[in-house]
Amino acid sequence: MCGIKLTNDPTFRKIRSILESHHEYWNNAIPLIASENLTSPAVREVAISDLAHRYAEGWIGERVYPGNEYFDDIEELTLKLLKQLYKAPFIDARPISGVVANLTVYTAFTKAHDKMMAISIPVGGHISSGPLSAKSGSFIGGTAGAVSRLNVDYIPFDRYGLNIDIDAAIKAFREKEPRLVQFGASVFLFPHPLKELIPVAHEVGAHVNYDAAHVAGLIAGKQFQDPLKEGTDTMTMSTHKTFPGPQKGIVIASQDELAEKIKAAAFPGMTSNHHLMHVAGLAVAAAEFLQFGEAYSKQIILNAKALGQALYERGFKVVCPDKGFTESHTLLVDITNFQDSIGLGADVEQRLEKAHIVANRNLLPWDILEKRNYLNPGGIRIGTQEITRLGMKESDMITIAEFFKSVVLDKKDPQTVAQEVSEFRKEFQKIHYGFETSIKAYEYIKIV
Ligand SMILES: *Cc1c(COP(=O)(O)O)cnc(C)c1O
Repeated sequence: MCGIKLTNDPTFRKIRSILESHHEYWNNAIPLIASENLTSPAVREVAISDLAHRYAEGWIGERVYPGNEYFDDIEELTLKLLKQLYKAPFIDARPISGVVANLTVYTAFTKAHDKMMAISIPVGGHISSGPLSAKSGSFIGGTAGAVSRLNVDYIPFDRYGLNIDIDAAIKAFREKEPRLVQFGASVFLFPHPLKELIPVAHEVGAHVNYDAAHVAGLIAGKQFQDPLKEGTDTMTMSTHKTFPGPQKGIVIASQDELAEKIKAAAFPGMTSNHHLMHVAGLAVAAAEFLQFGEAYSKQIILNAKALGQALYERGFKVVCPDKGFTESHTLLVDITNFQDSIGLGADVEQRLEKAHIVANRNLLPWDILEKRNYLNPGGIRIGTQEITRLGMKESDMITIAEFFKSVVLDKKDPQTVAQEVSEFRKEFQKIHYGFETSIKAYEYIKIV
């Protein structure tokens, strides 16, 4: 037969057509979810390789599965590049996501019913460091408690300053003597006070983990605190938020002595299959980051500050104006002043979505005190890492702030705004700070 014939199977046709609509929406939208990013063409090429079909249980050179002669070389290179990027002696790249990376650390360094202290969910903490739900046994909002059976307590937090309350935290660590202290959060505007708190956590015998899921790219790009330098024992992360790699997780250790425990918890334990195509994608993403990461991270933060300022000037209550709004990729906007005209988080999120502006509703740290919950919270969270990857700069932040004003303040028809957004996106259809072709990617890897 000559030429390519697309199958007529109705399911395939349907999935393909839905994907076309999905791509059409996203290619014409302003992506502002703080936990998402875009992979480069080179990373995507690797993701559809045969590795997507394989298993490689065990460690490099010690597999308990055949067929991994070539994959061993890949995983070795991935770890080498990541260790170079984070200046760390040991990394395990087997966790398949950030949650699994956290579970690997909990498994390696705690026993059931040990006390863990972390940032609470209402003030920006992630579900993976949450307690067992009040409805006993439920997973809702509490991986650490529900899966690892940890007795979760909270690090005292200054709700209005959007950071840890140092004096109260020192007191709490000494009183409660946790076995595990975990820093890091999902609404992460300012660096955590590690210099002040890690020595106290160590003094009471705690293992310290820093959950860098959101800020992993900013750390590797040298634009945020460096937790390993500041004394954390381990660092966990998702590799697809400010670090623009494939969807995966890693655990980093500050010392080789911690390696065996982490390896044993990762397999056999938290993983069997470790998504080999994404291990390869991580090598490519790390090579890209070694080359472009610093410039990329700088621009992410410049854009976040510029967008904060532009929104603030247009009447949006962006939190912490006195602190420059943020020192990361994330902004938090208090939208309670639109409650009477538009509604709260859910309504504003939906209105923006119709206008092709994608940003999620989010709890404000003080929402709980004012009886608002996560279903319809008082805030919107915005991240600038993906729009930066698309090549946007500070002046484009003014355009985006104008779109927000049209939708939320002027209550313009979202469909009309969607057309303007789509026009604006025409200029931004390429991925920046990454390898355009796979050929370049492989060349770069060879010379690192
Ligand atoms: C996103 C996130 C994670 C992990 O998420 P995955 O989706 O499993 O990669 C863990 N911790 C924090 C603080 C996060 O924001």
